[in-house]
Amino acid sequence: MIKRGYYGDFGGAFLPEILVATFDELEGVYNEARHDPSFWREYERLMAAYSCRPTPITDAQNLTDHFGGARIFIKREDLNHTGAHKANNVMGQGLLVKRMGKTRVIAETGAGQHGVATATMAARFGFDCTIYMGEVDVERQRPNVFWMEQLGATVVPVTDGTRILKDAINEAFRDWVSHMDSTHYVLGTACGPHPFPEMVSWFQSIVGKEARGQFLETEGRLPDRVFACVGGGSNAMGIFSGFFDDDVELVGVEAAGRGLDSGEHASRLCSSDASVGVAQGYKTYFLQDDDGQMRETHSIAAGLDYVGVSPILSDLKENGRVRFEGATDKEVIEALSLTMKKEGLIPALESAHAFARAFKEAPQMSTDDIILINQSGRGDKDIFTIADAFNDPKWKQFIIEKAKQYHA
Ligand SMILES: *Cc1c(COP(=O)(O)O)cnc(C)c1O
Repeated sequence: MIKRGYYGDFGGAFLPEILVATFDELEGVYNEARHDPSFWREYERLMAAYSCRPTPITDAQNLTDHFGGARIFIKREDLNHTGAHKANNVMGQGLLVKRMGKTRVIAETGAGQHGVATATMAARFGFDCTIYMGEVDVERQRPNVFWMEQLGATVVPVTDGTRILKDAINEAFRDWVSHMDSTHYVLGTACGPHPFPEMVSWFQSIVGKEARGQFLETEGRLPDRVFACVGGGSNAMGIFSGFFDDDVELVGVEAAGRGLDSGEHASRLCSSDASVGVAQGYKTYFLQDDDGQMRETHSIAAGLDYVGVSPILSDLKENGRVRFEGATDKEVIEALSLTMKKEGLIPALESAHAFARAFKEAPQMSTDDIILINQSGRGDKDIFTIADAFNDPKWKQFIIEKAKQYHA
């Protein structure tokens, strides 16, 4: 077992011996790419041609008028190909896979979004692709499974354990160990053993770099406060990294689910239910019990429903650079509804956590202040969950019954 890649007291790479060489190779190619300016230019060109970058910043004048406080701006990661910031990470890793000369990618997915993004990348680069997914998740995410298969991926339902995300992660690692020479494991967020947290954050930093430049160009100044939702932490790391060295307040918003006191949430950094531990190859805050058993998590947003969190964000919590808050399912649905009505934007349920918190703080700020919200993705994918939450009798049969089939 070796230790490296620490951020304060967090991170590391707690690996079985057999994977050490593969992680060394990955770290090597990542460091090489990082110090090669032509790599980042190639990445930017690819993202411009394939995923609509640079994504714009939208001045949310109607929401600003509604709250009467700080001016509200929105970074539009929903306009990426496949509908979220996840494209930034998978396409970046695709370029590294090409550099390593590997021909096959694997990934695990819970809600299916990262699986679809990875399958898309694999199709574009001509890689073989296998996606591991808990059998329970396969059942409730049929549309995403359909798309992954149409994109050419093999979807393997995992029947071990509780048949959800963590079982799929174990299975993906098992595959990797037996196919290291040909295969790269595309981790979906800024978590896991080093170099993944740093590498995924680096690819996502394209969001913050753009946002900073866009503000200086159009407003002649930076925002005062930036809000991003926090699942594993990749979209937050992406947008925050543009402002670490500036006098800009950074706010990470976790899923408070049915309330921080209810025990039914996925808040690792803003609740006292989490503690520091080592699992899945890295050290961070986990939602675990006293024996180190992972707890059940809950969020209305599948993408925020995770027991761990980026070790880099754990460090940024400890040193106070980022403030962490929670938004409940109910607050999220209200924020989503308002954003649709006022701006014609449909944020993903994940992103709507950042909106909900920003809406709480905006009225207390001055009209000279500026807020930036990262809209990490679009909400089309959430139609059944949102319709279910609105519980409008008019849509009961058409959508809510369908929702029961997809989200059992
Ligand atoms: C997956 C997902 C997230 C959560 O992942 P992070 O790594 O925390 O960014 C947030 N928003 C959307 C739209 C997602 O699809």
